[in-house]
Amino acid sequence: MSLMTIDERSVNEIASSNGAGLRDAGAFRERLDRLAEVAVRVGLGLSRGQELVMTAPLDALPLARRITEHAYKAGASLVTTLFTDEEATLMRFHHASDESFDQAAEWLQNGIAASYRSGAARLGITGTNPALLAHEDPNRVARANLALSKASRPALDLITRHEINWTIVACATPAWARQVFPDDDEETAVARLWEAIFAVTRVGSPDAVQNWQTHDAQLQQRARLLNEKRFSALHFRGPGTDLRVGLADDHLWLGGGTTARNGIPCIPNMPTEEVFTTPHKDRVEGLVTSSKPLSYQGSLIEDIRVRFEGGRIVDMAAKTGEAILRRMVETDDGARRLGEVALVPHSSPISKSGLLFWNTLFDENAASHMALGQAYSTCIRDGDTLDASQLGGKGANSSLIHVDWMIGSGRMDVDGISPDGGAEPLMRFGEWVE
Ligand code: ZN
Ligand code: ZN
Repeated sequence: MSLMTIDERSVNEIASSNGAGLRDAGAFRERLDRLAEVAVRVGLGLSRGQELVMTAPLDALPLARRITEHAYKAGASLVTTLFTDEEATLMRFHHASDESFDQAAEWLQNGIAASYRSGAARLGITGTNPALLAHEDPNRVARANLALSKASRPALDLITRHEINWTIVACATPAWARQVFPDDDEETAVARLWEAIFAVTRVGSPDAVQNWQTHDAQLQQRARLLNEKRFSALHFRGPGTDLRVGLADDHLWLGGGTTARNGIPCIPNMPTEEVFTTPHKDRVEGLVTSSKPLSYQGSLIEDIRVRFEGGRIVDMAAKTGEAILRRMVETDDGARRLGEVALVPHSSPISKSGLLFWNTLFDENAASHMALGQAYSTCIRDGDTLDASQLGGKGANSSLIHVDWMIGSGRMDVDGISPDGGAEPLMRFGEWVE
């Protein structure tokens, strides 16, 4: 079996065909290289002498190599990449014994956590097939996910507490591209998905590093303005939604980059268009309807309708994937409470692309959203210095899961509610009220 991917093959074919094609292939290589450079320099802020641990799907090999090169040029001491193979995952579901689905490679997850503790940075390349496990037994999918969640908890804790600098970028893979562009042949679909990734990840022009720095400053300014307001709640109104989300005590809005506790500034998600904070786990009331499908670890959940009382989901339904949704929410008590609320204007580049990416990294940046499960302690004032029970006391939720789902649209209004009950319009028809 060859590890060469469609993108690399098609580029080589274009390169060998004619002069016009050669320019296209050159332009592709240039932007792939720019994505790798932006990921290492701006996303990760990799520092000289730092170790890097990267995770990537097999099909992301060309991008992983460009990133590796830029990481060593930036002074990385050692780059280690862990590749995953989706075919192997399917083989497990088709041939492994039933009792084995409560197992995860705990030794590997502990090793990853150990690398972070010893100062390594983390870069994740996403490109997963959104529907990989759609036809597998949901009970087995849930058990395997739970086992993996438990095993990766120590590593995830270090990430969510921003102990180290980390970032996630995307690579167009054939299986993912087929899901986004089902009417195109595979080569066209991959090329179109790459175009979309380059555009919304802001690496289309040669001054990509500077564009990212400007964009980052704008998001940080928006977060600063919201922090000055000290709202006690947000009120969302839209089709199928009338929801009041209480905010945690001492909540902190974040947007764009953040400085990790190791002192290195990083931008954890590329793309990113959101400003986000921690809701109060006991103070969410009302109805909310999802505005885009949710791709959850290989399965698709569409048209989610949920009712909250006292912060807990008390009622839920979904047009497709309801069984997966119910199992997800039953992971633990925190899985039925909110750990994040985020505001994204409807005019974001991802929303403008009109595409459904079936990937949270992209789709959550197309619309205002919320996450069930674990809260980010960095979204609480001095949260990094507080223990779990102190964070819980301020309203920050705790769970094995953190699942973002989209609720915003061009028909969503959002008000900020002051402690005295006064309402201030924040968004109208999905756009910021300036
Ligand atoms: Zn978010
Ligand atoms: Zn999130």
